Amino acid sequence: SKLTPVTVIGLGPMGQAMVHAFLDKGHPTTVWNRTASRATELVAKGATRATTVAEAVRASELVILSLTDYQAMYDILEGASDALAGRVVVNLSSDSPKRTREAAAWLAKRNAQLLVGGVMVPAPVVGTEAAYAFYSGPRALFDAHEATLRVIGRADYRGEDHALAQLYYQAQLDIFLTALSSFLHATALMRAAGVSAETFLPYAVDNFNSVSSYLAGAARNVDEGRHPGDLANVIMMGATASHIVDASAEAAIDVGLPSAVKAHYDRMIAAGRGNESWTSLIDAIANRTG
Ligand code: NDP
Repeated sequence: SKLTPVTVIGLGPMGQAMVHAFLDKGHPTTVWNRTASRATELVAKGATRATTVAEAVRASELVILSLTDYQAMYDILEGASDALAGRVVVNLSSDSPKRTREAAAWLAKRNAQLLVGGVMVPAPVVGTEAAYAFYSGPRALFDAHEATLRVIGRADYRGEDHALAQLYYQAQLDIFLTALSSFLHATALMRAAGVSAETFLPYAVDNFNSVSSYLAGAARNVDEGRHPGDLANVIMMGATASHIVDASAEAAIDVGLPSAVKAHYDRMIAAGRGNESWTSLIDAIANRTG
């Protein structure tokens, strides 16, 4: 085969899906996993099993990691330091921006380079048209390997700072997880009054579909640092935030999520900025109210 060989270390649901995608496209694929049995099905399909980490790292210039966190990378690669020279490690594991930058330095000391990735779709979508991933690190490194990485999904390069892909990933999941919890919280509020989740559902869907229309104006205000007051000012929205906390307390459901939102409004009102648009909450959230 003329296709680029790849090594995939970490065979959880994501790593397995990636190996399937590489094998389907015909890439010679070497695999290693701490729990060796997770490689069995992949080997039957044509992957090469490395018996040691060093063997896995030596098998391909491109070494893809799909692990729970960055600590797992150290646990795995520490014993194979000598094999790392000249390797391009593509770490697709989730972790903090700081730990991501530290990993770039750790690999550089071993003459290896790091590309950071954040895959934005669940395992069943990996390798399909709908799949995409954020990448960051040296531009030349990304350009050299984009064609291979495209097998996983569309590759969206975000910049040289290694932390950027991780930040885009965390920011997207910040929105996603908070939105999912807000839906469940609102549903719990309704269920406490005997309204089923299915009865409330179409209203929630309508809300999710319309909320994106507010974002462009909000982004403009945030970047310009101007929050002209309008109908949706901090005092008006803050009263609503307060009523949601009251309604939650009356229903004896968790008040943590609405209380966190209410606190943003309270801080802006305390800062004397109650007549500004709700978008001014960015300053409370960014801890810039003084
Ligand atoms: P997991 O998070 O469950 O990762 C499991 C892999 O990490 C396994 O191969 C496991 O080995 C290995 N591992 C964990 N700790 C260690 C360690 N200390 N030493 C050696 N190996 C270790 O699997 P996923 O495939 O779900 O996710 C991989 C990454 O992709 C995560 O960072 C996740 O956040 C991200 N992601 C996941 C998505 C999903 O839908 N699942 C979607 C998008 C991103 P072993 O088999 O031996 O336990």
